[in-house]
Amino acid sequence: MHVPVLIVGAGFAGSVCAERLAANGIKVLIVDRRPHVGGNAYDRLDAHGVRIHVYGPHIFHTNSQRVFDYLSKFTQWRFYEHRILARLGNDLYPFPINRKTINRLYGAAHDEAGIRAHLDHVRAHRDPERTSEDVVLNAVGTDLCDRFFRGYTRKQWGLDLSQLAPEVARRIVTRTNDDDRCFGDALQFMPAEGYTALFTSMLDHSNIEVQTNVGFADIRSRVTGDHLIYTGPIDAYFDYCYGALPYRSLQFEHEHLPAVARYQPVGTVNYPNEEAFTRITEFKHLTGQEHPGTSIMREYPQSEGEPFYPIPRPENATLYQRYQALAADESNVTFVGRLAQYRYYNMDQAVGAALKAVGRLGVPE
Ligand code: FAD
Ligand code: UDP
Repeated sequence: MHVPVLIVGAGFAGSVCAERLAANGIKVLIVDRRPHVGGNAYDRLDAHGVRIHVYGPHIFHTNSQRVFDYLSKFTQWRFYEHRILARLGNDLYPFPINRKTINRLYGAAHDEAGIRAHLDHVRAHRDPERTSEDVVLNAVGTDLCDRFFRGYTRKQWGLDLSQLAPEVARRIVTRTNDDDRCFGDALQFMPAEGYTALFTSMLDHSNIEVQTNVGFADIRSRVTGDHLIYTGPIDAYFDYCYGALPYRSLQFEHEHLPAVARYQPVGTVNYPNEEAFTRITEFKHLTGQEHPGTSIMREYPQSEGEPFYPIPRPENATLYQRYQALAADESNVTFVGRLAQYRYYNMDQAVGAALKAVGRLGVPE
């Protein structure tokens, strides 16, 4: 079988490429080894009728009007600003760290200037910042680092903060005011009918054929394309010829609580220290769904399993660059997405990267 464009992976990267090509008159076959489209953003109703995010909580936020306008063609939005509390002992504290976090923790009553003075007093001055440890210590000093960051990071990555590139910790802002939102982005919305509905709408085009439960290996020999867009792990594409790129995986523990309307006060509670899991998410906060019961998810990080997170550290970047050099020689293949580019992309960044990738193929964004 021959197709103009074969796309491997039906997450954001692959689906955006499919939609743009199809809208511009190019026929595509998009395959995914999973039984559904949507990649890690896939959501569905659980057995009790509560909408859950199967592969972990996905909160859409962006500063890119272009990405937002593009996705708005496929979904209505529901305004939602995510909030997190961190559990230390029996108490819950706003996270990312803000004025209230510090005042509550230390029994203080600082105004903003007082918080700034406190942080100036405790922060380190590591220059340049070479690791995530440098970033956190420069932002909040040792005590807050040990309470909120060191244990969580050790669980999440199986590594110390000092072993991770600065960009990991730079995802987290520190505030001196009372803003307790997780993200500061200008646009924070959830797809009104969920992510899967967004993907279904995006892929609903006569030029797009979708095949799920189909891995690249299954069709590599029987389907040829003038062009291939590959969004799976880049090391797998090259048969791990330089060795496996490390990815961090997760095990998700879903639980439904039938007679509990609300399990926790905010969408996510982080557990930085004792527990084996990193966080509990209660989906009804994210989706706004009304239901007499509630569904929650615990995330247990692990090294084996589905590749969920590229691990940002210098030796992995070096290994990725060797694969990237091989990719540059594959003239009829585009590598795009979180796994193929080995980049800690958020959803909006994966969409942006896909729009850019099709742009390079001469297809209007
Ligand atoms: P993916 O969604 O991983 O899609 C790749 C697809 O390729 C998968 O469906 C996979 O099955 C398929 N595939 C791989 N190999 C093959 C093969 N050989 N053959 C066929 N198919 C293959 N981003 C946010 O913006 N906000 C959040 O709150 C957020 N939370 C997250 C929470 C978790 C736990 C995780 C893991 C990620 C989160 N993200 C979040 C990031 C978000 O999931 C990604 O940015 C986005 O899904 C990337 O899209 P993608 O298409 O590059 O990759
Ligand atoms: N982090 C932390 N404590 C927290 C939350 C985050 O130490 O309570 C660190 C940790 O290293 C984590 C990183 O900040 O991997 C990025 O956090 P984010 O919430 O952005 O991770 P994601 O949602 O992508 O899993």
